Amino acid sequence: MRIAFLGLGIMGRPMATNLVKAGHEVCVWNRTARQHVDGARTAVSPADAAKECEVVWMCVADTAAVERVMFGSDGVEQALHEGMIVVDSSTISPSATQKFAERIAAKGVQWVDAPVTGSKIGAENAQLIFIVGGTPEAIEFLQPLFKAMGKLAIHVGGTSKGQAAKLCMNLQIAMIYEGFAEGMTLARKLGVDPQKFIELIQASMIRSGVVEYKIPFVMRHDYSPNFPLRLMHKDIHLLLEAAKEARVKLPALETVDEIYELSSEEGWDDLDYAATIQLLERWAGLVK
Ligand code: NAP
Repeated sequence: MRIAFLGLGIMGRPMATNLVKAGHEVCVWNRTARQHVDGARTAVSPADAAKECEVVWMCVADTAAVERVMFGSDGVEQALHEGMIVVDSSTISPSATQKFAERIAAKGVQWVDAPVTGSKIGAENAQLIFIVGGTPEAIEFLQPLFKAMGKLAIHVGGTSKGQAAKLCMNLQIAMIYEGFAEGMTLARKLGVDPQKFIELIQASMIRSGVVEYKIPFVMRHDYSPNFPLRLMHKDIHLLLEAAKEARVKLPALETVDEIYELSSEEGWDDLDYAATIQLLERWAGLVK
């Protein structure tokens, strides 16, 4: 299949690489010039990448980035043609997704929202899970591409429902990690050996994929970004915005947002979100 892949960040680069490995004809574009993806053509603009492609796949930072890539002066919109499918694996606003989809539908182009879970390691190992919103026909057509980059694609509903489900999932990731970080900090302060505490977590019903992924990094104080703090913070804001629109109250998430605000003020935006534990450790007097 001929695919344009836009956005070569932590997630996008390995995703595009896996499409090339699966034998697809891939053309890549990134806002700032980076090393090329082996086996892919590098385009000069999103419109240049998208021309003559059957599928345009995006994985960029946020709602504003998707808008720029799609509808900027050299955006994908310039190259839209009937029958093309646009797939968005960024995590962005569900209501903006709906508007973007309506705008391209006028040109006979379908929008599929397909945000992902699995983080950097899942993207590198083609083990992502896609959380998909769109028509059954478009999703069927995309199956070989989902298979090239992931292990599962769950069709949760129509346009924007993938984004909605993904956000609600990230709400839980942020809270599960916060629970782990607070439990670990208090355990250390009370004199419990961290290794023993982890052994207990892993053996009991509170074990979780989130904690399992983060433990090795937290234990060696390695906060290099797998999922940058600024992106989890962006998702918390998207969640609070969606909750406000839907008149839903999320008091615990509002408190977690404060931790992210303070972490951002510390200049930790480009570290992994796991770095938020450092604030708790500092407040507990475990580090200076
Ligand atoms: P990243 O490493 O920060 O990459 C972001 C990408 O977006 C880069 O290619 C960046 O281009 C591009 N970009 C940012 N602003 C732009 C703009 N205004 N116009 C055009 N391009 C722009 O982020 P990532 O970790 O790959 O995440 C990408 C998306 O996947 C995000 O929505 C994130 O929430 C979601 N996600 C991430 C993870 C994870 O664990 N990392 C997991 C699930 C979902 P430059 O190189 O020019 O900055």
